[in-house]
Amino acid sequence: MRSHYCGQLNETLVDQTVTVCGWVHRRRDHGGVIFLDMRDRDGVAQFVVDPDTAEAFANADRARSEFVLRITGRVRLRPEGTQNPNMPTGMIEVLAKDVEVLNTAVTPPFQLDEHGKVGEEVRLKHRYIDLRRPDMIDKLRLRSRISHTVRAFLENQGFLDIETPVLTRATPEGARDYLVPSRTHAGSFFALPQSPQLFKQLLMVAGFDRYYQIAKCFRDEDLRADRQPEFTQIDIEASFVEEQDIMGITESMIRQLFKEVLDVELADFPRMTWQDAMDRFGSDKPDLRIPLELTDVDDLMQQVDFKVFSGPANADDGRVAALKVPGGASLSRKEIDEYTKFVGIYGAKGLAWIKVNERAKGLDGLQSPIVKFMENIVEDLLDRVDAKDGDIIFFGADKARIVNEAIGALRVKLGADLELYTQDWAPLWVVDFPMFEADDNGRLSPLHHPFTAPSCSPEALKDDPASALSRAYDMVLNGTELGGGSIRIHDQTMQRTVFDILGISDAEAQEKFGFLLDALQYGAPPHGGLAFGLDRLVMLMAGAKTIREVIAFPKTQSAACLMTDAPGEVSSEQLKDLNIRLRQKAKADSTAE
Ligand code: ASP
Repeated sequence: MRSHYCGQLNETLVDQTVTVCGWVHRRRDHGGVIFLDMRDRDGVAQFVVDPDTAEAFANADRARSEFVLRITGRVRLRPEGTQNPNMPTGMIEVLAKDVEVLNTAVTPPFQLDEHGKVGEEVRLKHRYIDLRRPDMIDKLRLRSRISHTVRAFLENQGFLDIETPVLTRATPEGARDYLVPSRTHAGSFFALPQSPQLFKQLLMVAGFDRYYQIAKCFRDEDLRADRQPEFTQIDIEASFVEEQDIMGITESMIRQLFKEVLDVELADFPRMTWQDAMDRFGSDKPDLRIPLELTDVDDLMQQVDFKVFSGPANADDGRVAALKVPGGASLSRKEIDEYTKFVGIYGAKGLAWIKVNERAKGLDGLQSPIVKFMENIVEDLLDRVDAKDGDIIFFGADKARIVNEAIGALRVKLGADLELYTQDWAPLWVVDFPMFEADDNGRLSPLHHPFTAPSCSPEALKDDPASALSRAYDMVLNGTELGGGSIRIHDQTMQRTVFDILGISDAEAQEKFGFLLDALQYGAPPHGGLAFGLDRLVMLMAGAKTIREVIAFPKTQSAACLMTDAPGEVSSEQLKDLNIRLRQKAKADSTAE
């Protein structure tokens, strides 16, 4: 139907006849001459229709925003003074000969160039219109290019693209499962995969050696942050490998991707142990663009006569950390109050601070609500953080977990608010994670998933599981976890030991993961892998603010699709087929909504 996309028209086509198909972006009636800005996925171009071509003119006259037209005409240079150098097609226009209305359109719920004025709900409800915006087209085009480049890289490295089932058994990745009732097995349920983890390991047992898949994963998580219940992973696994191999291949992949798609050369990724990341940045995904670090001051605070500090400083699970912000003494009281509120979100009970106005003046040169409690150590404290005139020092004192979360987040917020970034891209590897984390009752759960290999023997693991390290690694970019993986357990004894430590009985292990335990007996090779979150990777590369911006049809924060109205109720016949009876309360709740 067409000879060119609108966005392809330019000076090289002057005097040629072209045909485009697209949507009316804008229509202007200039005293007898109609101007149509026509849009398709490649861009916008200007068409001029004059009354000499009567039928074309009549059609252009009835066209409205978002009508679908097919236009044939001759490309010509725009008259001097009407050229638009800001538009790729801005030097030319097309004098229309034929204008055919392929379809009409009712008035759209929002003007494409005024989407900022409507809420995200309106955009999501009419996503097919929102997706007509050049900005959204660019993001999805970038996404396609990223997937393509990744596939090409992995295929070149000998990885095979193999699909794994979506109707399956639970794969524990730390979230709730989406369950699908089985009609043919009354009372039984499939789980949608939280990741293809076990299948990719079984492909290694089968001998495929190198596997990848751009896979949909499903996690029924609580509504926090920027998560989607279904998201996409670049999932990778390989056999006869160690940490260095997987990290090497995937680091090259990301470097090549940035080079090809964004023309950005990323340097070699530094490696940091998990402990170091927590100590220095309060986070296992530190944003290294920000030149601020946490400093431990427990030993000093043990000596002060002020419980708020000495308590956590002396407690086994406590931490007192200082965060120096160069030049931060100019922060106002109001700004400090805002930061105090901010750390409260993470459970911090307050935010102590010292402003260093003039160090040479000793205590008189300091401004702070707390310094009177720590006169005996204040000089050592200032030396420890290398405080200079004009700095502010913030303190967190609580359980180590709270201090890390609160002061770690404060560090990131200050970095953004005060524009402290030293570089555009700061990738790194975080390694040497603990195998397990303990909840408040001392119950251990895996930090990654229970198939991650420890870096010690089964005996050593059993002796002291709490301090065992794993062979896991995370790739972090600008404070976001881009991907994570590990070398896996490939022997049955080790796998049983880990299940045992997690309190999974032999019977339960057999019931849930019997197929994996069986497979491990049949010659499982040493193997490992990694998965990248594709949505987050695209978000970072597109400079988008949320992953919803880089997903064609995302769900809302409350895990619903506003366009299709999913999830929706089902008929009583369907429920009966599935042998499901809803509890009265669930019924009442859903009708109340
Ligand atoms: N299955 C893991 C995840 O989804 C990734 C991996 O270990 O390869 O996070």
